[in-house]
Amino acid sequence: MSAQDMPLGGKRAVITGASKGIGRAIATAYAVAGADVALVARDEGELTALAGELRTHGGKAFPIVCDVTDAAAVGKMAEQVLAEMHGIDILVNNAGIARSHKLVGHPDELWNRILTTNLTSVYLVTKALVQPMLDQRSGRIVNIASIAGKVGGRYVIAYTASKHGVIGLTRALAAELVNSGITVNAVCPGYVDTPMTEAAIANITEHTAMSAERARDTLERTNPQQRLIEPEEVASVALFLALETSKGITGQAINVDGGAVMF
Ligand code: NDP
Repeated sequence: MSAQDMPLGGKRAVITGASKGIGRAIATAYAVAGADVALVARDEGELTALAGELRTHGGKAFPIVCDVTDAAAVGKMAEQVLAEMHGIDILVNNAGIARSHKLVGHPDELWNRILTTNLTSVYLVTKALVQPMLDQRSGRIVNIASIAGKVGGRYVIAYTASKHGVIGLTRALAAELVNSGITVNAVCPGYVDTPMTEAAIANITEHTAMSAERARDTLERTNPQQRLIEPEEVASVALFLALETSKGITGQAINVDGGAVMF
């Protein structure tokens, strides 16, 4: 295998929310590109099965059970990462949840859960893992935001606020770390074909008269290409941002949405 075939050879990556959907696709793309990967989520069974699969690509793959909303658990996760991989080169903050609710009657618990899972976790995990990257004067931080981080939609105030927050955090941290050798970028997908979107479709059918087929079609139409994005398309951008040759790209929020949002 040449360096071109293994562009992440010798790199150590941590991916949160690695067990499903976009995180799983990113972990797979990184493992295929030669990286060792630490797979973080709450479901141990899914992580262990994925780690076994990814080891077949020749690198190391570690399942690490951690709720990224829990600061103490994040601290332990970071210790485990350093014990297993002796460092970190790439951090992907991908774990997230989506729920919809209108403002009137919005449960405070739901607001807090969404903000903590989608935004505070990025702060906690990055703070816990950035020091080794600062010490080695190189690193890549990739935050999976959303086009909901750039525009507002109906009935998703908490999700939208959290993703605007992720893009703000990305830009502020990119500025703070600009001379550290660490880049910080966000990826902003439109609707992606993952369990999260399946749950959104189920929610629409539950609360409206729409069939699942019509609900899926409605989500597909939010993309000018009239389709859901594949998780591998998001992984491809996350891989590109992790490359050594992407060192000049920082503070960016790159849309993967079929042209729905053009800024
Ligand atoms: P999925 O629901 O398919 O997967 C979410 C992943 O996050 C799972 O691995 C889940 O594992 C993990 N996770 C959730 N909560 C926690 C937590 N508290 N601690 C640790 N891990 C957690 O989501 P997607 O793959 O669709 O989404 C991934 C990211 O992409 C999210 O940030 C989402 O907001 C964003 N995104 C998704 C879009 C879409 O249309 N699907 C569009 C735009 C952005 P477990 O439950 O085992 O912990």
